[in-house]
Amino acid sequence: MKKGKQIYEGKAKILYETDAPDLLIQYFKDDATAFNAQKKGTIQEKGIFNNSISSRIFEYLESQGIRTHYEKKLNDREMLVKRVEIVPIEVIIRNVAAGSLCKLLALAEGLKLKTPILDFCYKKDELGDPLVSEYHVLALGWATAQEIATIKDYTFKVNDLMKKFFLAINLDLIDFKLEFGRYKGQIILADEISPDTCRLWEVGTGKKLDKDRFRKDLGDVEEAYKEVFSRVTK
Ligand code: UDP
Repeated sequence: MKKGKQIYEGKAKILYETDAPDLLIQYFKDDATAFNAQKKGTIQEKGIFNNSISSRIFEYLESQGIRTHYEKKLNDREMLVKRVEIVPIEVIIRNVAAGSLCKLLALAEGLKLKTPILDFCYKKDELGDPLVSEYHVLALGWATAQEIATIKDYTFKVNDLMKKFFLAINLDLIDFKLEFGRYKGQIILADEISPDTCRLWEVGTGKKLDKDRFRKDLGDVEEAYKEVFSRVTK
């Protein structure tokens, strides 16, 4: 697969064209940002860990009938993906209260939710990715009613599958973010699934093995990503 011109650079990844019009190369960087990019840093080898973790999870989800943009892992830092038109929504699903939910409603971190909460945020850095409702998504034409239904259905299924997947390696899936894209008229799962986009707490100890170690300066940041990588890929 020939690497073509760079078409996009985000906070954690770069996208390149390939010689196939429908396929892109997704390159994982070591750069880390938090709090709407007010905090910036580098997590050594994060790109390598996240590429492997994401690849493994996409392979698992595909094997369970979830359509994703993942084609294959190319090397340490790159995966081949389908070229999609990204729906400008971050879909967040929560099983346990943490992060912005605790802030919004003054909840204790770790409160187990009776049912999962699904939040939509509008992908707009300048606005700090604000929380919106399904009505905003529809009214502003970010997705159709049918696309929203598919996205919700996929997100709950992915949550059930990923909870099982992580529990098998002794990790509790607290919350995570998904992004979806349109490919040949269909909604498919895109972006990445990694400790950058999921909160993962070790069963028993409650140790945080995700980007909160970077956000909150908890130390052992690289070790946490490496630990998730070894559990996911063993
Ligand atoms: N998340 C993400 N990208 C974002 C915002 C959130 O991947 O731009 C993930 C985050 O890592 C966590 C979940 O979505 O696993 C819920 O995040 P939350 O809304 O609590 O926001 P945060 O505390 O990260 O500001």
